[in-house]
Amino acid sequence: MMTPWQDAWQGIRAKLRAEFGDATFDSWLKPLGVLRAEGSKVLITVPTRFMCDWVKTHYLGRITDHWRQETGAVIDVELVVSVQSPPPIAIAVAAQPATRPAASPVRSNGHGEEPDGGNEDSYGAPLDSRFTFDSFVVGKSNELAHAAARRVSNNSKVQFNPLFLYGGVGLGKTHLMHAIAAEIRARNPERKVLYMSAEKFMYQFIRALRYKDTMAFKEQFRSVDVLMIDDVQFIANKDSTQEEFFHTFNAVIDQHRQVVISGDRSPSDLEGIEDRIKSRLGWGLVADVHPTDYELRVGILQSKLEAMGRPDMPNEVTEFLARKIISNVRELEGALNRVTAYAELVGRPVSLEMTQEVLQDLIRSNDRRVSIAEIQRHVAEYFNVRLSDLLSARRARAVARPRQVAMYLAKQLTSRSLPEIGRKFGGRDHTTVMHAVRRIEELRETDSSLDQDIENLRRTLET
Ligand code: ADP
Ligand code: MG
Repeated sequence: MMTPWQDAWQGIRAKLRAEFGDATFDSWLKPLGVLRAEGSKVLITVPTRFMCDWVKTHYLGRITDHWRQETGAVIDVELVVSVQSPPPIAIAVAAQPATRPAASPVRSNGHGEEPDGGNEDSYGAPLDSRFTFDSFVVGKSNELAHAAARRVSNNSKVQFNPLFLYGGVGLGKTHLMHAIAAEIRARNPERKVLYMSAEKFMYQFIRALRYKDTMAFKEQFRSVDVLMIDDVQFIANKDSTQEEFFHTFNAVIDQHRQVVISGDRSPSDLEGIEDRIKSRLGWGLVADVHPTDYELRVGILQSKLEAMGRPDMPNEVTEFLARKIISNVRELEGALNRVTAYAELVGRPVSLEMTQEVLQDLIRSNDRRVSIAEIQRHVAEYFNVRLSDLLSARRARAVARPRQVAMYLAKQLTSRSLPEIGRKFGGRDHTTVMHAVRRIEELRETDSSLDQDIENLRRTLET
């Protein structure tokens, strides 16, 4: 039986829907229900704590206005979190294929577009079977992210929520996410893992709005055990998608289900994302993947070579690639593939010369612009001499040798001419620079500790 309050509520709901639109209404206002009235106070139920916060800041004012209009009385509205409120949020314990939409009938007589999520394979997004923990090489730059990813896939108990992985392109975020999903599925096929890119999330959401089928869209998130959304920066400045994302995110977290999100920067640095969402994204564990270092790049190359069944690549080529292709792992893999494909095509073994030729363009774009000033600063620091002395006319050996090293490195690492380099070293003549370069070249042959010093310097300057 309907109480007068519930009756009034029906009218108010219709007004709220008209005012805020279907999408907002369905996401935020539809799940509200009238609990009871106490004096001049109406208690309204909200299914989750996060929704409660959200509704309070965004819609409570308008809801109260409508109550007052509808009843002609000064009424206060209070929100209470209650899981019994209509409609209850379904909590599925495990994946039950039977509860998913039946796939084949829809497909066989489906006209045109096939609904996303309509069959098991397109549920979420397919995983790349190469992206596993086994094939992920761990180094200093990614060990935190890796450890966190492992932790999430080994424990069914949620320890931090969400796990937020971030870093530049091509550094292994998607690889780690697929590895988590694959590992969880392998350990316990019952657990329902939903992985999708933020782009796909948006695409599906908009489509659901267009076909007035948001129920099916929402349904897929209801019973997930693990929700993974890749590249969240994609929904920057997409307001309604963000709102829906936030709603979905909160609902899953509220049920103590694991959420894993990736982005191209830290939550607080994400641009065009609502503050509320940014702050929530940072509540769990935030782990970043840094650019790779030389050792990690060598490790990755070796692991890829093994996977390709060609561990016979000359060391100097592997080292050359690891030293030159520093932008990201994707490019490093691309370079390796290009070289091996080329070698196969021409039927010759991979050589350093071949590699340099085949990768000319890549190497040029990866060349970091080292400035002479930077070289001078590093060299002075390394040999513990003052920068001003390095640039001065002093001839004491303690400064003269580091100065020659700096000139040598300037010649090796920059495209400056000898006169230009001379000018940057306190206006010296180009013959002085030439002499320094020759001298260091000679010394490198005989003085192994100097050789090592230069190698160290070159490495820090180039990475
Ligand atoms: P992101 O999602 O961060 O842009 P991806 O995960 O797509 O980067 O990685 C790009 C490529 O580099 C993939 O082929 C991935 O397998 C590879 N990759 C990245 N990091 C590693 C690593 N540590 N070990 C092995 N392969 C890696
Ligand atoms: Mg990615």
